[in-house]
Amino acid sequence: MNRPVARMQSLEDIASCVAGYDPNALPVAQAQDFIARLVPRVQAVESLAIRSALGRVLARDIVSPIDVPAHDNSAMDGFALRSAELAPGADTLIGLAGTAFAGAQFSGSVPAGLGVRIMTGAVMPAGLDTVVPQEFTRTDADGRIRIPAGTVVAGDNRRLRGEDLARGEAALQAGRILTPADLGLLASLGQAEVPVFRRLRVAFFSTGDELRSIGEPLDEGCVYDSNRYTIWGMLQRLGVEVLDLGVVRDEPAALREAFTQAAACADAVITSGGVSVGEADHTKQVMKQLGEVLFWKIAMRPGRPMAIGRIGEPGHEAMLFGLPGNPVAVMVTFYAFVRDALLAMSGATPQPLPLLRAVSTEAMRKKPGRTEYQRGIVSQAADGRWQVRITGAQGSGILRSMSEANGMVVLHHGQGHVAAGDLVDVIPFNGLV
Ligand code: AMP
Ligand code: MG
Repeated sequence: MNRPVARMQSLEDIASCVAGYDPNALPVAQAQDFIARLVPRVQAVESLAIRSALGRVLARDIVSPIDVPAHDNSAMDGFALRSAELAPGADTLIGLAGTAFAGAQFSGSVPAGLGVRIMTGAVMPAGLDTVVPQEFTRTDADGRIRIPAGTVVAGDNRRLRGEDLARGEAALQAGRILTPADLGLLASLGQAEVPVFRRLRVAFFSTGDELRSIGEPLDEGCVYDSNRYTIWGMLQRLGVEVLDLGVVRDEPAALREAFTQAAACADAVITSGGVSVGEADHTKQVMKQLGEVLFWKIAMRPGRPMAIGRIGEPGHEAMLFGLPGNPVAVMVTFYAFVRDALLAMSGATPQPLPLLRAVSTEAMRKKPGRTEYQRGIVSQAADGRWQVRITGAQGSGILRSMSEANGMVVLHHGQGHVAAGDLVDVIPFNGLV
């Protein structure tokens, strides 16, 4: 497999570059900084037909080989004329030399005093520089077109050659995730194919003896594994290739096999569960045996414990994201850390999640010194401002709070209590969750 080129820095080297690094009380920003320094970027590039490239990461800058549009042309249906022939302060009368259609240009020369009937997108006839829209004109009894004084000035309703993209200009930059508009832009350049990075492969599994998969009986003391479904869904939204390795029992041999298989066939491995302090299981031990892994306590709520590092054979390592087990903590840590890391690994230029400022309808208790992510429902108040209220119980096991929410209130590291009416930052879930 064509692997990303790993930076050969040790985790200690990376830690020494992160100001305020303390694995036992790591602020969210420092953890993000660490991860950004750690992740390698996929190298392999493939060429795809533009319709197959939606949502993929552009691998090279695209330089326009042509002027778009290729000619000066009309932006309106109307009459093209010479602005020098507009009568100052009086109506102008022009006769017509012919008609210019989009795709069928008027190729003769236009005698003085005449104009050309012109359609939107038609090439501007030589010598004419201005278009008066048809609805502003009248046709006199003698067939001449009457343009009331002051209707247009020189250059109106004319689109200039190269005004969308000039030949040689960078049309799109490497690292973009291609949008529908980008596909249209590529088509406007006449480009059939586009170079994109190969898709990232991400393997994931759940750990915990209490977990049952759908279809299995729910034995006493057990829960259905939901994390594999939220993780699958969040990965789908990132457009990566996913490999679901199921639920892995809390046995060293089973864990070793799962980690080894995952590291052999994926660029990144995501696990949930088994990384908290009091864990009596083998997950952390096996992670340590198979790679270079750090165990963090992050100053955040929910989602305190997390493992980060790389596992596998030297030179063929996969990034490891060991997420906490609680279903809400999984989603919050995914959005706080894993999403950006996977985008960077995919070759995408990081785009921070947009934050909305909303009025909190209620007071929230918050200790400075950790980042809190509360699930919220954002709506528009009668005065047009955004407001947010918290979904019921905020326990990190209550997945319903995530499902009901349409945004996540971010109470930043240094922030204290919030009073009703205060403005808070919200990450809208639109298209995200
Ligand atoms: P852990 O981080 O392994 O200590 O798990 C913390 C809590 O999350 C426990 O109550 C687990 O039962 C629960 N949990 C762990 N993994 C999953 C999962 N895949 N689906 C649902 N709940 C889970
Ligand atoms: Mg567990």
